[in-house]
Amino acid sequence: MTVSAETELQIDAARLWKSLMDLAAIGATPLGGVRRITLTDADRQGRDRVVEWFKAAGLEVRVDPIGNIFGRRAGLDASRPPVVAGSHLDSQPSGGKFDGAYGVLAGLEVVRTLNDAGIRTQAPIEVAAWTNEEGSRFTPVMMGSGAFAGAFSLEHALSRTDIDGKSVGAELARIGYAGSAPLGTPIGAYFEAHIEQGPILEETGNAIGIVIGALGQRWFDVTVTGMNAHAGPTPMNLRQDALLAASRLVGEVNRIALAQAPHGRGTVGFMQVAPNSRNVIPGEVRFSVDFRHPEDAGLRVMEESLREACGRVEREGRVKTLVEEVVYFPPCRFDAACVAAVRAGAQAAGHSSLEIVSGAGHDAVYVAGVAPAAMIFIPCKDGISHNEIEDAKPEHLAAGCNVLLHAMLSRAGPAGHEA
Ligand SMILES: [Zn+2]
Repeated sequence: MTVSAETELQIDAARLWKSLMDLAAIGATPLGGVRRITLTDADRQGRDRVVEWFKAAGLEVRVDPIGNIFGRRAGLDASRPPVVAGSHLDSQPSGGKFDGAYGVLAGLEVVRTLNDAGIRTQAPIEVAAWTNEEGSRFTPVMMGSGAFAGAFSLEHALSRTDIDGKSVGAELARIGYAGSAPLGTPIGAYFEAHIEQGPILEETGNAIGIVIGALGQRWFDVTVTGMNAHAGPTPMNLRQDALLAASRLVGEVNRIALAQAPHGRGTVGFMQVAPNSRNVIPGEVRFSVDFRHPEDAGLRVMEESLREACGRVEREGRVKTLVEEVVYFPPCRFDAACVAAVRAGAQAAGHSSLEIVSGAGHDAVYVAGVAPAAMIFIPCKDGISHNEIEDAKPEHLAAGCNVLLHAMLSRAGPAGHEA
């Protein structure tokens, strides 16, 4: 097959859509979403279905000890590490049809397309489904790719427990996905197609997001300690109101992020008030702070600003504050050659595209620590995800899959035609 014929190669959009809908029927929710929480029976059914499809497409399937599934299509050069497409099959408790599933099934559609066209690649092609990306049942999030990349140990991941005390290891064994394939095998290049989960592509009218990296994240737990006191007899000027002080800090988090426009993010999404009684001045408040920024230096400025704000609030509000860091994900810059392959794929297919920085974490961010990686975003309706109403257009799903096809082909080496 000639090079020009390859650039005209197209995935089968209807087949991709049908696979997405068939998978979405497993764990389907009344509002059109899915509930396939990791390592539940629904997750097992989704995995079993995808493994069937992998085998039907001729892929050699292996499962590693954290339950990551890989389907391998042999290359002409067995010594080369595979070019991998992947994402995740688990969902949020009220999740959508496309978050994660798209990246796995787009990879499968690439394989089916190569099979139909009789194209062999130099490097092997693999499709990966990473375990527990969502982290809603077991923390940490992105568990399978994190263990694969050595961000934490396998033992640590397997020992995590859910709210009922069930462990990852026991649940993997129960659903039949405690595999024995080696963990952390080499990857030549990794591509992850994903819905954007934000509004930028839709607002700017672009079909493809060329993802150049992901925001770094620093999460903090903040505790503000004042003094419980009766709401009636305690004069305003003598109060040590922890909630009033915390409210000021919520405003500060917003101000700190706005000062880091356009990519800085600051969110307080969780708060506990004690004693949480309408006629008691709150004595203790705990809340979360989620800072995101594309540069480590920016994240450091955000933390320093938070600590300064805490100092001011302590003096003015007669309270004590404690700031503890609980999560750190470094900013991620994807591999220049992989990003270029995505850009070339979008240009070859004639799709409008935009460079974008992912605000959310993805398996690709961990994989990028051990292999060249990049991501392809497509628009999703109103930027909504982690919601049953999450939606994406068939033409955008197809566009992203075609870009994936051409990016993978370019990295898997000159293609040959099957004899
Ligand atoms: Zn996802």
